[in-house]
Amino acid sequence: MSVRVRFAPSPTGHLHIGGARTALFNWLYARHTGGKFILRIEDTDVARNTQEATEMILEGLRWLGLGWDEGPLTGEATGPSTGDRGPYFQSQRRENYLRRVEALLSRDMAYERDGAIRFRMRREPIVFHDLIVGEVRRELTDREAEDPDFVIVRSDGKPVFHLTNVADDLEMGVTHVIRGEDHLSNTPKHIALFEAFGVQPPKYAHIPLILNADGTKMSKRDRGASLKMYMEEGYAPEALVNYLVLLGWSPKEDRQFFSLDELIERFDLSEVLRHNARFDLAKLQWMNGQYLSRMEEDRFVELGVHAFARAGLDPGRYPPGYVKAALRTCRNKIKTFGELPEYAGFYFKERLDYDPEAEEKFFTPENRELLERLRETYANLDEWTPGYLEAQLKNLAGLLNIKPAALVHPLRLACTGRRVGPSLYHLMEVLGKETVLRRIDEALARIPPQTPTA
Ligand code: GLU
Repeated sequence: MSVRVRFAPSPTGHLHIGGARTALFNWLYARHTGGKFILRIEDTDVARNTQEATEMILEGLRWLGLGWDEGPLTGEATGPSTGDRGPYFQSQRRENYLRRVEALLSRDMAYERDGAIRFRMRREPIVFHDLIVGEVRRELTDREAEDPDFVIVRSDGKPVFHLTNVADDLEMGVTHVIRGEDHLSNTPKHIALFEAFGVQPPKYAHIPLILNADGTKMSKRDRGASLKMYMEEGYAPEALVNYLVLLGWSPKEDRQFFSLDELIERFDLSEVLRHNARFDLAKLQWMNGQYLSRMEEDRFVELGVHAFARAGLDPGRYPPGYVKAALRTCRNKIKTFGELPEYAGFYFKERLDYDPEAEEKFFTPENRELLERLRETYANLDEWTPGYLEAQLKNLAGLLNIKPAALVHPLRLACTGRRVGPSLYHLMEVLGKETVLRRIDEALARIPPQTPTA
């Protein structure tokens, strides 16, 4: 029997780190086994669900590269591997639920009371084997023993989570339910429903929770809890995937870095850890930095261009060789791509904006002459390489009997508008002679004239 798994988020807020990990485990399990990964948006709670939250889920999954395999035709492209197949939306599947409720009512496995429809819950203990948790035995609590039946359709006609979740898992032929451990307490109800429908329940795999570094339960509001932050700050999705998989999965070998293909090959539910995982933002940042420095150049350029574009710059208007060379000067200098627009946006601006504090400090009347001398020196060069540019600057500093830094600071500000950035001589090489001279001229035009001394 081929594996069919699903990620079934309720669109009530941002896609949480825990949700992203659940999606990833499901996706990896499907890819590992050659099965199918289904995305089902559980949006029956109209009061709490928002369109925006649904968009965030889809955007987050696409960003992580977790494409879903099937769904109703929508006529628009929705996911990396889906073409025009959308996710399933529970809000569009009401008939399915009502049909299931009818079936239960007709067999007296459900009944109406006070306008709501209730399911006749099994009275005997429910025992099942969870692929991660092990054997789970659930007896009715004293309170439940008095009235174990539970509502499956509210008096306002809305079907309840337990029913929709099971009805869809049944309809979609889900073979493995991989979800957060917070749902473990719902599982006996779900198993009883499956049995009432006369089918074998799927296999269950409840993933332990994610805790904060200090051991407290991670909530939606904790820093780093929402996937959106990583998207906005320009993390590499492959770094996040690698970090997330280690939050709860531990391969037999002592290794931390895995490519996606390696994960697909190795990931299995039998190696999902039984204990809660701790979320460590510092480790994720470190791992992201490692990914950035090890990444193939083309990928670095792709993600870099994306980060500039997010900030409203348009590297697409520049020659590909220039873009590549510009990004090469940023290699090993940034921790996330989100730093790029501030760090190296000057490559893609026709008109620079200048850091006002730096401008006050370095575009002074005293520095005017230094910049003029630099311009003169550089204007006469035929060779435009970092080593040569540096030698010329040092030579001029020697002639003027000043430290090279006295020239470097105003020159960097003239070329970039910032105090910090990539290696000065390398960035000048990328900008090219013409642009550098023009930027020195623009800087000179901003510098107030020297006040004549008496
Ligand atoms: N909508 C439920 C949730 O977001 C899904 C639970 C499940 O995966 O069965 O928690």
